[in-house]
Amino acid sequence: MLKFRKKPPCIPTPDGVCTCCSKKVALVGNPNVGKSVLFNALTGAYVTVSNYPGTSVEVARGSVVIDNVSCQIIDTPGMYSLLPITEEERVAREILLHEAPDVVVHVLDARNLERMLAMTLQLITAGLPVILVVNIMDEAERMGISIDIPLLQERLGIPVIGASAAKKKGLAELKKSIVGYNRTRCAVFYYGRRMEADLMESMALMSGSYAISKKALALLLLQRDEEVARIVRDTEGAEYPAIEEKVREKIFARRDSFHLELSMERKAIVKGLIEGVFHASSARKPVLGERLSRWAVRPLTGIPLLLVALYFGLYQFVGKFGAGTLVDFLEGTVFEGYISPWMVSLFTRIIPWDILRELFVGEYGMVTLGLRYAVGIILPIVTTFFLFFSVLEDSGYFPRLALLVDRLFKKIGLTGRAVIPMVLGFGCDTMATMVTRTLETVRERIIATLLLALAIPCSAQLGVILALLSRFPGAIAVWSVFMILVFLLIGVLASRVVPGESPMFYMELPPMRLPQFSNVLTKTYSRVQWYLVEILPLFILASFLLWLGKITHFLQGVVLWMKPVMAAIGLPQETAVAFIFGFFRRDYGAAGLYDLQTSGLLDVRQVTVAAVTLTLFVPCVAQFLIMLKERGAKVAVSVAVFVSVVAFVSGYLLNEFLILTGILG
Ligand code: GDP
Repeated sequence: MLKFRKKPPCIPTPDGVCTCCSKKVALVGNPNVGKSVLFNALTGAYVTVSNYPGTSVEVARGSVVIDNVSCQIIDTPGMYSLLPITEEERVAREILLHEAPDVVVHVLDARNLERMLAMTLQLITAGLPVILVVNIMDEAERMGISIDIPLLQERLGIPVIGASAAKKKGLAELKKSIVGYNRTRCAVFYYGRRMEADLMESMALMSGSYAISKKALALLLLQRDEEVARIVRDTEGAEYPAIEEKVREKIFARRDSFHLELSMERKAIVKGLIEGVFHASSARKPVLGERLSRWAVRPLTGIPLLLVALYFGLYQFVGKFGAGTLVDFLEGTVFEGYISPWMVSLFTRIIPWDILRELFVGEYGMVTLGLRYAVGIILPIVTTFFLFFSVLEDSGYFPRLALLVDRLFKKIGLTGRAVIPMVLGFGCDTMATMVTRTLETVRERIIATLLLALAIPCSAQLGVILALLSRFPGAIAVWSVFMILVFLLIGVLASRVVPGESPMFYMELPPMRLPQFSNVLTKTYSRVQWYLVEILPLFILASFLLWLGKITHFLQGVVLWMKPVMAAIGLPQETAVAFIFGFFRRDYGAAGLYDLQTSGLLDVRQVTVAAVTLTLFVPCVAQFLIMLKERGAKVAVSVAVFVSVVAFVSGYLLNEFLILTGILG
């Protein structure tokens, strides 16, 4: 028979850490309240700090020793309530239900205390061991908000700590509170006579033991939470039908008004709790960040603001400075002037065989082509793009942009949330395809993957294409209009064809602020590092395969085979090489076109048609591999085939249209 024994005395490790008393601590709360910042501050581990929900989707775990007690800290995905809607919320609740944390640290944003306290109520009602961290106090104080923490603590009956995680304030107090946590008598909330009676009746029928209180379970059952129903059914066995019957009866009696009533009751409880706790000075003028925030979400001011950001960030900084000045210097001066000639003479000396020498320094050589494209052309462009992206990200602009474009995106089967992978796609489509996993529904993920593969040119490709077309303003206009049309048209079609429901969109707005230099640098650094590790080897591999194709005459065969296709869209057969390049890296292809154009093989119309077809053409190898991994073979192959067909049909139609109308001469 199983007997409970007295807990044996602690045996600390030689360095004094007591592992038998180790604590599991879960950080929970809405997205963007500073959980990851707090997690990093507690554990010392590095996790990218982001303003969009993407970062918290995966669960981060770290450990820390506090006063000789080892603690495992779990950074859970953002959740708005104990009743999950999104996948992230489901994961966060799973952790609470199945991992039995010793302490649940509920982190909330001091500026939104009233709205976010509703979840504290739910956690306390669930009987979880809660510590409340009222975070971002620095910003709240700056806005003229003051919060009486001791009074709130007294009312809730749990430890409450005021903190500014980003400034490491309140950390020591939190650590002390975690190791010294003792279940106290917390507040009991009264949900009104009728609701309390309903809850009591349902709870009375439950006899099993659960990770959370029966009152919380009854609340979730009455909100038709299927997962909780399953847990209760598995625990209660034969008793379950009676519970189900009771719940059904209650739901029927209320005819869907339960959610509304519950939220009214919660609001009333929170109002009572913050009475005298939360003071906001009303005479305060909105600070610049708040004004910018308002402008950013209203179409009348938001669209000009977006255009200004794109003009300075994308056109001037990435286009002119990155793709112009930096590429001229790196590719033109450093590679062409020094590295390439130096490498050619080095390899000529050490490798006497022409064919093998070609592998390194020939037409498709790993150094003269692979390294030159990757480091001389693409690296400066993606680095400047990632810098621009990180500045926008850290300023808190993206959630506003998401709200701004939400209505338009709904027409193409997406929601505002998809703005982040879409914008990131202008940097690197491969990385953006990976980020589509943060979208709520499978349908949205498929549509976003398709649109990224088809109509979003990555920064490297965009840089080279803009450089290619920059001498012909008409060509840039035709290319831009055509790309936008294809994006919208295919988006609208996809939203009709791809099955599944349209998701809801709700995004928490973090504060708008001046980007922090160190955050921007860290984010840019980790993205550039990702690019170098993941993508640079593909450039070298692509050079190798092209070299192999050349010496085996396979490449010429494919070029000949593509000749009729090229002819159909009005291009010389040499352009086929750029398309083959394009599959290895889309920007590789664009750079190939650049070479053709500078050697006078293409006129304006042909450059425009080639640029459009190439931008739409099959995604690069890296993106294709990520599509396979994220969406599975069926979706990846269908997207690739569809995209190729659309690209060449569009090229054909555009060419015919340009000949017919005489636009672009
Ligand atoms: P999470 O989604 O809850 O993990 O939120 P993050 O940890 O990613 O933080 C969201 C944003 O709030 C980031 O831009 C942080 O830099 C910022 N932040 C977090 N804590 C504080 C704080 O105490 N003060 C200020 N001003 N900003 C903070």
